[in-house]
Amino acid sequence: MNFNTMLLHGNFTPEEKTGGTTTPIYQSTAFRYETAESLEKVFNGNAPGFIYTRINNPTVDAFEKRLTLLEGGVGAVACASGMAAVSLAIVNLLRNGDEVVSGSGIFGGTYSLFKCLEDFGIVTRYAKDNTVESFAECINSKTRVIFVETIGNPKLDVPDIRALAGLAHENGIPLIVDNTSTTPYLVQPLKLGADIVVHSTSKYINGGGNSIGGIIIDGGRFQWDDRKFSSLKDFTKYGAFTYLAKLRKGIFKDFGPCAAPFNVYLTGIGLETLSLRMDRICENARHLALVLQENEHVVAVNYPGLNDNPYHHLAKQQFGGKYGGILTIRAGSKEKAFHVINNLRYAFNLANIGDSRTLVIHPASTIYAANSRAEKEGAGVYEDLIRISVGLEDIDDLIEDFLQALGKV
Ligand SMILES: *Cc1c(COP(=O)(O)O)cnc(C)c1O
Repeated sequence: MNFNTMLLHGNFTPEEKTGGTTTPIYQSTAFRYETAESLEKVFNGNAPGFIYTRINNPTVDAFEKRLTLLEGGVGAVACASGMAAVSLAIVNLLRNGDEVVSGSGIFGGTYSLFKCLEDFGIVTRYAKDNTVESFAECINSKTRVIFVETIGNPKLDVPDIRALAGLAHENGIPLIVDNTSTTPYLVQPLKLGADIVVHSTSKYINGGGNSIGGIIIDGGRFQWDDRKFSSLKDFTKYGAFTYLAKLRKGIFKDFGPCAAPFNVYLTGIGLETLSLRMDRICENARHLALVLQENEHVVAVNYPGLNDNPYHHLAKQQFGGKYGGILTIRAGSKEKAFHVINNLRYAFNLANIGDSRTLVIHPASTIYAANSRAEKEGAGVYEDLIRISVGLEDIDDLIEDFLQALGKV
């Protein structure tokens, strides 16, 4: 089955009773069994079945199966939000005293999470740039995971997934990749050697900006050494499912950030049109970047799809000639950036990315407001920077909108 067919038919089990073409919303807290014996079996993993929606649910299960297939994993756990997915993916492995090595251009919420984890004795070291050497310099005997985003947001730096997987494995640790900004349509990190993939499904996977959600997908290939990853020691009997078993039966069940069936239903419908939307979004973004690059009011345009971008070559081969839907521009000053944002007609000014509508934000005064100047610049955030998440509008309307807003500066 090829990708577009998988989006519609992958891992689909038709609804037995009615023949419904989508898995319905099982808006049920718990699932009833005829006999005490049968519930005992399901509880103890000796028979398949659903128990309680905090642990699993048929609507959520169908979505997890489809994304497992799209990412080429062995299984997945959907969560209440992208942040729930990132947190659990890390906390499932690490303990007090362990360390994370992370790319520096990561999403502000994840940066904030890594700061928060310091209170629990988990320290994060940031590679100073995206070279493999910079990641290697941060690794020590306490490092338990390397974490990167496929395209850092808003720095828009691109890590070499295959090379970083090699580095992680040389050090006996897994590579976790946040694939939110590229989606499995542009890249399947597990196929490049990554071990675990996480997503905020609130963005491109949902596509319509109508539900918060996240998901963790495991490639099932990492050989867990339970002396090094002592939190997994009761689960290595599950073989390729060690990590997922610990997640589902441990941290995910105990912390409780399960996905709501209604949100997952909406996200599953969005997912069906992922490739159509991504094609249009990537094309619109590249076109807009090219036009803005020529504009006298724009000081700089950052987009991996531009030929002179330092990540262009890597992005081209890693993402199959597409470069995502996010670009940033520098307007010259904070005042000018605000002026542009205030004069846009179609682009909404809000915190999100990955909607079908074009979105903009001034990151320095919002998402990164609490960070120091050095932290901001480390994350590629400048006072005059506008982040643009390009949508599905007609490109001529988008260009006209940005040009008229820039013309008023
Ligand atoms: C939005 C985002 C998250 C967090 O997801 P939520 O669904 O907002 O919790 C994590 N990683 C990346 C790259 C994101 O863009």
